[in-house]
Amino acid sequence: MYKIVYYGDKRLVSDNKDVQEIDDGIRKIVKKMIKTMFKRNGIGLAAPQVGINKRIVVIDTSFGEDRDHILVLINPQITQTGQETVVMEEGCLSFPELYIPVERARSISVKAVSLTGESLQFEATDYFARVIQHEVDHVNGVLMIDRVSPEKRIEVSGELAEIKKMAETV
Ligand code: ZN
Repeated sequence: MYKIVYYGDKRLVSDNKDVQEIDDGIRKIVKKMIKTMFKRNGIGLAAPQVGINKRIVVIDTSFGEDRDHILVLINPQITQTGQETVVMEEGCLSFPELYIPVERARSISVKAVSLTGESLQFEATDYFARVIQHEVDHVNGVLMIDRVSPEKRIEVSGELAEIKKMAETV
């Protein structure tokens, strides 16, 4: 299992490299990421959250119901976003115990490569679209806190400082 990287760690905001070849090394990382996601009760995890600066995302598409529906997205991209947006509270394994309202597109188009190397192209809506947007943000070095108003950021600044302290001690 991997250790989760917390807000304040620069690996969360670093550049993430495209995966060039899906080899044993990548498959091992993915397997370990899935394990870590379940262990920490997450429904999505991006590689930079475990300190690996590569464009890899895993999502539990049952959203916590079971462990049989895993979506692995290599080099994911959001190619289109719908006009309609939804505000909903979000959490993140890199921000323990912080839940903040984030505005996101209700529907998106996604392009990625599967773990077996196939090109994927699909549409996602509602919660599924939200989870993908959150994780693709991670591989772009963007965090949920970057998506909220300056007022909200000030409101949670105490919590953010606490998380940063944790990042320094682990
Ligand atoms: Zn996150």
